[in-house]
Amino acid sequence: MNVIIFGPPGAGKGTQAKYLVEKFNSFQISTGDMLREEIKKDTEIGKKIINSMNDGKFVEDEIVNKLLEKIIFDPYKKNKLIFDGYPRTINQAKNLEILLSKSNQKLDYIFFLNVNKDAIIKRIEKRKILEKRSDDDAITILKRYDTYMEITKPVLDYYSKNSNFHEVDGSMKIDEISSKIEEIVS
Ligand code: AMP
Repeated sequence: MNVIIFGPPGAGKGTQAKYLVEKFNSFQISTGDMLREEIKKDTEIGKKIINSMNDGKFVEDEIVNKLLEKIIFDPYKKNKLIFDGYPRTINQAKNLEILLSKSNQKLDYIFFLNVNKDAIIKRIEKRKILEKRSDDDAITILKRYDTYMEITKPVLDYYSKNSNFHEVDGSMKIDEISSKIEEIVS
């Protein structure tokens, strides 16, 4: 089963992705984590992306798409992909379709965690304290939300026409959201 968890920053994508990973013995594909790792290791990619990431801007499609390619063709992970934070642009969505089709895979479920802006700001402020993420200050949060609305919202519109698209109320409690998702996938 391949799944996309979709939603604005702070909607709880990572939490639900982790839940699915444990429940279905699959793999969380978090491009945010992959990019943060590049920065931590101070790689060539890390040096290139540090400013845009700390500024709440998207990393170039080319870089993110490249990072993803290896994972999709990994036979060990085939049909066990839980995407968290990817795709975020139409270009990425199309790239994902191509890579999945080339590797004989498909998307089984797309979940959209819908949460309003006020709730997100509160959640991210809490996460900043817990996880010490450098891109979680108030101004960056607002920028990331605006970027999401501007660039990622069209991706949502693109997917919402699919029969495997499901909108879930992301303001519910974590376990309520997980139950809802589980109900749909089982
Ligand atoms: P996340 O951990 O998913 O909230 O991502 C944190 C930051 O990483 C985002 O604000 C972007 O700067 C960058 N990022 C993560 N995933 C992507 C992606 N698919 N495309 C472009 N930038 C991304």
